[in-house]
Amino acid sequence: MLKRSLVIPTALPHRNDNAVVNALTIDVEDWYHATFLGVPESSWSTCEERVVESTEHILNILDESSVHATFFVLGWVAERAPKLIRAISDRGHELASHGTMHRQVFSQTPEEFVSDVKRSVELIQSAAGQPVCGYRAPAFSVGKNESWALQELAALGFRYDASIFPIRNFLYGIANAPRFIYPICEGRMVEIPPATVHVGSWRFPIAGGVYFRFLPLPLILWGIHRLNHSENQPAILYLHPWEFDPKYPADGVNSLARWSHGLNKKDMDRRLRKLLSTFSFAPIREVFSSQLNEVYVRDKNYKLAPSAV
Ligand SMILES: [Zn+2]
Repeated sequence: MLKRSLVIPTALPHRNDNAVVNALTIDVEDWYHATFLGVPESSWSTCEERVVESTEHILNILDESSVHATFFVLGWVAERAPKLIRAISDRGHELASHGTMHRQVFSQTPEEFVSDVKRSVELIQSAAGQPVCGYRAPAFSVGKNESWALQELAALGFRYDASIFPIRNFLYGIANAPRFIYPICEGRMVEIPPATVHVGSWRFPIAGGVYFRFLPLPLILWGIHRLNHSENQPAILYLHPWEFDPKYPADGVNSLARWSHGLNKKDMDRRLRKLLSTFSFAPIREVFSSQLNEVYVRDKNYKLAPSAV
């Protein structure tokens, strides 16, 4: 059973033949924000800034295929590079929040969390003039004990969260969380999980980050194909600008973190282009427009309105 499930089709569908539209997401943060590197906040202002160049590199690849994505922007970046955020918006992409300081949710009090999220929305919206209605926690740090954060997001007027990874590893995730979009917070928001596939009785992430760089590309293509055709579900993928920057200056971190951070970066351009030529992609607000329009929105915060999606 396991072996049969791992058979990879030799002929994957052409992009235009695929009826299911997937969601491509980019977490816009610099190399030193990656949680597992452990670079302290006090050192960030002395680190070499690489995020503008690497994000523009991704934008150019997306332009080649006329694909739009959702960019979860860190407030820290929006404050220092507002022109980049404006450019992302002007090129037709969706903007969403990745918080301001890349602090894991469980490390914050509810008051600190709300302050951090509100600040990020203010920075993104003032840079781009585009409403923000989606959130992804740094390092997928909404677990079983952080449901309070989802309630805070709903109270702030968000329509969706994309922070709960439906597998459990040493850093994050909820092992048995639903794998596909589901209502949360009494229907005031929806949760949009990153892509996983079932192989036998196992659940595997294929969605992005180190998984996307580590796994063989044919296996990733097979996984998305299986999601689209066997389960009739879109795949939600996540990437980071620093993953496209082989010259990242990660001096001073331990060798394991350096290895993980740098793994297979030189192949990222080819991998992304292959994905874009094989499958259809759109921003979250388009892929899940019907579900998002059903979500009750509190209009008093940030003047979010149904037309925002
Ligand atoms: Zn992040």
